Amino acid sequence: MSRLDSFIRRLEAQRLVLNWAAAAISGRDGLVLELGLGNGRTYDHLREILPGRAIHVFERKLSVNPRSMPPDDRLMLGDMRETLPEFGLRHGRAAVLVHVDATTGVPERDRVELAWLPGHVAALAADEALVLAGAGLEHPRLRPAALPEGVPAGRYFAYRRV
Ligand code: SAM
Repeated sequence: MSRLDSFIRRLEAQRLVLNWAAAAISGRDGLVLELGLGNGRTYDHLREILPGRAIHVFERKLSVNPRSMPPDDRLMLGDMRETLPEFGLRHGRAAVLVHVDATTGVPERDRVELAWLPGHVAALAADEALVLAGAGLEHPRLRPAALPEGVPAGRYFAYRRV
């Protein structure tokens, strides 16, 4: 499969999974965390499908489309290795949905450079929170969950915080 086809499938899977997750958390209070603002596409989608929900965004280097800029008080600029624990000191385990989109597209590199990430995510997720990720996360508190129909195996990952 070409990288273009792979990219398109990834975006389709993202949209399906985010829509599914928005429905899954409806009626449950709590924060939404977007880990990796990038261009802002998935953030923009989340704020559209979750109107009124507090969405906190983490990014170390701003390269966002100006139309998808989060408000200042919802944007945590800096390395997530530091900003996530800082956020935890203020909010505790208050997230009902965490979308982890911090990957580089090179799985071997991500496995090493983001090895600390699952623990940081588990520390912010409320009990039974949904955690979505573009790459697999391994942590004893993150129990793999089934994805909605139509998401090809290995394309996206879902977990419940236990
Ligand atoms: N969700 C974005 C979108 O839809 O446009 C794409 C995000 S992009 C795949 C990954 C982003 O994660 C990059 O912008 C990168 O700077 C950010 N990132 C990766 N590791 C990070 C870290 N340790 N701390 C903060 N941001 C990080």
